[in-house]
Amino acid sequence: MSYFGEIVSGIKTLLTGMKVTGKYFFNARKEIITQQYPDNRDSLVMFERFRGEVVMPHDENNEHRCTGCQACEIACPNGSIEIVWDRKVDEETGKKKKYIVQHIYHLSMCTMCNLCIEACPTDAIKMAQNFENSVYDRSTLTKVLNKPGSKLMDGVEE
Ligand code: SF4
Ligand code: SF4
Repeated sequence: MSYFGEIVSGIKTLLTGMKVTGKYFFNARKEIITQQYPDNRDSLVMFERFRGEVVMPHDENNEHRCTGCQACEIACPNGSIEIVWDRKVDEETGKKKKYIVQHIYHLSMCTMCNLCIEACPTDAIKMAQNFENSVYDRSTLTKVLNKPGSKLMDGVEE
């Protein structure tokens, strides 16, 4: 190939490669563009399927849906959940009833497999989308999910 032929061939090859890049540059959908984290922290919206950590929602009356049944603890493959429970006398029936004392969650061990959430019969826990969990003290990654003074919502066990 002549000298000029090689130049023409080189430019052609370059343009072929640039065609792919150019196609993405002009037609890329918004969601496949790399996000500028942490600059976009205020506007960042995680994907719905993203799993950040297990949490226990409470309502405005500080009530949750956890009965202390331990299904999540049993379902967890690596012991990330510990349920501390006790029994007390139900004033209505006079019978002893199980209740949760502490729902302990070890975030540092959790693999976000979702098995505990699927196992919960009362939808008491769910996955949150928080992902900024870097800490200097690992013990702070052990959390008690039921808030102090909280109690079981009426009607959950019916
Ligand atoms: S998401 Fe998986 S690993 Fe994490 S606490 Fe639940 S069952 Fe355990
Ligand atoms: S979170 Fe759900 S599965 Fe776990 S102890 Fe509470 S009610 Fe049972």
